[in-house]
Amino acid sequence: MMLNGKVAFVTGAARGLGKTIAKTLAGEGAAVVLADVLDEVTLTASELQKAKHKAIAIKMDISDYDQVVRGFAKARESLDPVDILVNNAAITNNIALATKMPRENWDRELLINLSGTFYCIKQVLESMIARKWGRIINITSMAGTTGLYGQCAYSASKAGVIGLTRSIALETARHGITANCVTPGMMPTPALHDLDKDWLEQLTRRIPSRRLCEPRYVADLVAFLASDKANYITGVEYNVTGGQELAVISK
Ligand code: NAD
Repeated sequence: MMLNGKVAFVTGAARGLGKTIAKTLAGEGAAVVLADVLDEVTLTASELQKAKHKAIAIKMDISDYDQVVRGFAKARESLDPVDILVNNAAITNNIALATKMPRENWDRELLINLSGTFYCIKQVLESMIARKWGRIINITSMAGTTGLYGQCAYSASKAGVIGLTRSIALETARHGITANCVTPGMMPTPALHDLDKDWLEQLTRRIPSRRLCEPRYVADLVAFLASDKANYITGVEYNVTGGQELAVISK
């Protein structure tokens, strides 16, 4: 077990990728704080408790700074200080070209995906520095490096998370803290339930691995980056995409 005795805080852990990450980290011995804006997060935490893992649920909206401060304070009261922070919570608003993108959608996406990530990082940095150990893992997207047609706000927010991660890595490496990004390929999570099936099939045919990404592939890398084994890896973006980014030059 790679994470025995560690406390992990996972945002967006009620469902989808965040839920798989929370389960995987718990399976590696970490006590896990599952944070989400959805009530469902309590059920997810009880699933882990039933499997004899140490887990608590915190309902909070990462875009509301006061809620974030209260959420992390509650986590500290219930468990030890956070050793591992996984910033996974994010939204994708309705797809719209920049010409049609309502300003409110832009603001909301940047506030949740980028500012919310920063708000959470801010809650753990000082205690990680004091204890000379910490892991910050931010979930990004290929959209953050390539851009995505009709999703300028999502792409900008994920690009922002990459820049944020690199800066945090530079500022904290001397304190025994690492900060990295993990980029999943297309995963069949609840976030994608509304996507057109034909479109998804066409996309799958263009992925060199010829299959979608499974959340557990991403969670396994997160667990490794959270462990002592990854103590000299910081400021890096890892793709778990089945080679999707190479697809433009392959058949
Ligand atoms: P999802 O919508 O299934 O899960 C996201 C979770 O975040 C939900 O439980 C949601 O309630 C929570 N959340 C949203 N806003 C929140 C807020 N303001 N405060 C707290 N919690 C909030 O999505 P997913 O597919 O599991 O995505 C997880 C991560 O993976 C995201 O960062 C997403 O950008 C990234 N990602 C997903 C895909 C994909 O194909 N699904 C691809 C690339 C990157």
